[in-house]
Amino acid sequence: MSQFREILRELRPDVSYNLHSHTQFCDGRATMAEFAEAAVKARMSHYGFSPHSPINVPSTCNMSSAAVYEYIAEVERLRELHADAPTKFLVSMEIDYIGQEWGPAIDYFQELPLDYRIGSVHFIPDLHGGMCDIDGSPLNFARNLHEVFDDNLRYVVDKFYEQSMAMVEAGGFDIIGHLDKIGYNASTIDPEIEFQPWYQDHVEALINAVASKGLTAEINTKAYSKTGRFYPHQRHFKKLRDAGISVVVNSDAHYTELIEASRREAFEMFAGV
Ligand SMILES: [Zn+2]
Ligand SMILES: [Zn+2]
Repeated sequence: MSQFREILRELRPDVSYNLHSHTQFCDGRATMAEFAEAAVKARMSHYGFSPHSPINVPSTCNMSSAAVYEYIAEVERLRELHADAPTKFLVSMEIDYIGQEWGPAIDYFQELPLDYRIGSVHFIPDLHGGMCDIDGSPLNFARNLHEVFDDNLRYVVDKFYEQSMAMVEAGGFDIIGHLDKIGYNASTIDPEIEFQPWYQDHVEALINAVASKGLTAEINTKAYSKTGRFYPHQRHFKKLRDAGISVVVNSDAHYTELIEASRREAFEMFAGV
């Protein structure tokens, strides 16, 4: 059984856990030690550290490759420090898919000693030969849409799902991160966009691809208290269930006080579909 399958088998819906989180090693707002303490205090069964991976394009949010072994050593140290706690600490990364040359499937990430891997799309090719972050605030998104995507929202959305499909096809990871994340920023520009048949086809095709590869989808709860939506949006929960996809519920915490943010609500909603 793969290491991640083993972790999945250990998770219990009635015991808290979180497999997606950020710390001082990328753009998280507290140290790993502080997050570990919060996870123990919440009596989580599993807490996975998943810094934004080293990346081959300019980014202020991603960890440097020089820090990778220091990061892994810190997980080891926290495991020892909390050896008597109920919480199992896991070492992971949220790996950016940039293209065939950089993503979860490349040897560099496959050879790192990680317990499991999250694959996420945060950057897509812009219309001027670069890669652009489409995951930031709606304000940044609107600016980038104008400046590097020539106001072509359809291109941005198509590209996000194209990149996501290519990432799933290339494989090398266990959990697909926030699979319809573009839906939020895109809907701040066009509130109807997610109801267009072509948009729904993208989500459906991605969910089917995730299912056929036997990947796990996360329900990402990070923004629910602010935006009223999970990633994927709760309107897609039934599709996940019908496709037989295994699901984990993650807070994608950047702040210690948010390690359990809206996880309970997500479980209840998912159980009800
Ligand atoms: Zn992410
Ligand atoms: Zn994240």
